[in-house]
Amino acid sequence: MIESENKKHYLAIIGGSISGSEAAKVLADKGLRVVVFEMNNLPYGKIEDGLPCWHVGLRDKQEKNIDTKLDHENIRYVPKVQIGKDISFKELVEDWGFSAVILANGAWKDRPLPVENIEKFRGKELIYQNSLLYWFNHKHEPDFNGRIYEMEDGAVVVGGGLASLDVMKIGMIEIVQKALKEQKGIDIDMFEMEKKGISEILNDNNTSLEELGLEGMTLVYRREAKDMPLKAVKDSSPESKKKAEEVSEKLLKKYVDKYLFKFLPLHIPVDFIEHNCSLKGIVFQKVEINEGRVVPIDKFETLQTSQVISSIGSLPKKIEGLPYDRDWLKMKKDVNYMVEGFDNVFAVGNAVTGKGNIQESKIHGRKITEKIIEEQLIDTDLFEEWLKSFNEKVTDETRKETDSIENFIKNQSVQSEEVIKSILDKTKALHDKAGYTTYKEWISAKTPVRLENMLSKL
Ligand SMILES: Cc1cc2nc3c(=O)[nH]c(=O)nc-3n(C[C@H](O)[C@H](O)[C@H](O)COP(=O)(O)OP(=O)(O)OC[C@H]3O[C@@H](n4cnc5c(N)ncnc54)[C@H](O)[C@@H]3O)c2cc1C
Repeated sequence: MIESENKKHYLAIIGGSISGSEAAKVLADKGLRVVVFEMNNLPYGKIEDGLPCWHVGLRDKQEKNIDTKLDHENIRYVPKVQIGKDISFKELVEDWGFSAVILANGAWKDRPLPVENIEKFRGKELIYQNSLLYWFNHKHEPDFNGRIYEMEDGAVVVGGGLASLDVMKIGMIEIVQKALKEQKGIDIDMFEMEKKGISEILNDNNTSLEELGLEGMTLVYRREAKDMPLKAVKDSSPESKKKAEEVSEKLLKKYVDKYLFKFLPLHIPVDFIEHNCSLKGIVFQKVEINEGRVVPIDKFETLQTSQVISSIGSLPKKIEGLPYDRDWLKMKKDVNYMVEGFDNVFAVGNAVTGKGNIQESKIHGRKITEKIIEEQLIDTDLFEEWLKSFNEKVTDETRKETDSIENFIKNQSVQSEEVIKSILDKTKALHDKAGYTTYKEWISAKTPVRLENMLSKL
């Protein structure tokens, strides 16, 4: 298709992060024009609000990468517009006149903790990972007005992926940092605590959890340490499997030794203890692994706690007007990036590929495991390795799918001048309302003050 014909097509993308920016760039490079609707100020999704803010280098690199893609003459970035709330999906698809709509809205709904009635404690004694990470990453900002949390000693985290290990680190850093300050007048910044680890920090200051009167936090996992997501094996031989399992166990032990949390494997949450309308404990049922399956047995353990953090993965937030098969978007059987029931609606990235808790692609997972096994990169930040690899996979898949979407556009009739003018007018009105001028100016004005910069000014 020649460029001038492409220019007659405007497409909409919902979400501007890893997958949205990649899809937008692929289409824009082919001469198509794209409007990227993003509900937040910044288009960085999980990188900005989910990746713990000590990953400064990785965050900055990935965000810059998104900027390079979105700052394109054929892309109109429209921030602060949530599809499904500010503009209904029906209106976007039926009234705006876009040649196609691509969903790249990720997975932002925490998978509910499967314990009956426990939701009544949500936001109080029950905290979900996405909300906790948002607070942790942004609480230092002078105009922060989100939900405020206080990590409690003795908190219990339910999870089992690498992200849940980051939750353990956040919790242990917060409680030890506070105790050192209040009891000893020692003020250590978060970056140093994360880098050195709790054990070394306590040794340096001749103290211990016990002396500070701290019990520490507990991570409860339904399987064993060896089953954690690094388990992906090099090949199908029993030796490779065993080796990968040993590495996973070793790595978890390293985390436990460095950040001093407790680990309770082979337990699932089944009930809670309540007193005066507050959560006071969680009842766990013991399980066995039978031919790879988690099988509950008749043994129970109660952990007394007034704080439970659920870190069992994220699901796409449902948008009214779209078809879902339980938690996931219903896709066409023959074209797995095309949404069922529409002929011009597509979905890419985590909106379709995320599978709840950390489930990296086998190939990429294997790559990381090989690297760890072969190079013994025990000290490497695993979460960074995992995320980089996962995002590469999301980007690769998005690129391939978007190429196919372009083929589909070729067969669509071009938009009239009137429709194009209406899209331009409507997006201009949204820009004016938000005070948006250019992509660069907007990003520079809206990027929040970074904790590392605040600390270096002290
Ligand atoms: C801490 C952490 C935990 C992770 N856990 C998992 C996991 O459990 N499972 C997994 O598969 N991957 C997980 N990942 C990987 C990561 O989510 C993906 O690799 C990457 O974020 C996917 O990019 P995306 O563009 O598809 O989604 P996202 O990065 O989530 O970006 C989606 C974008 O869409 C925007 N948006 C959402 N809804 C709307 C709307 N209605 N209107 C307008 N804009 C909207 C959002 O604001 C966001 O900018 C995790 C990453 C981190 C950092």
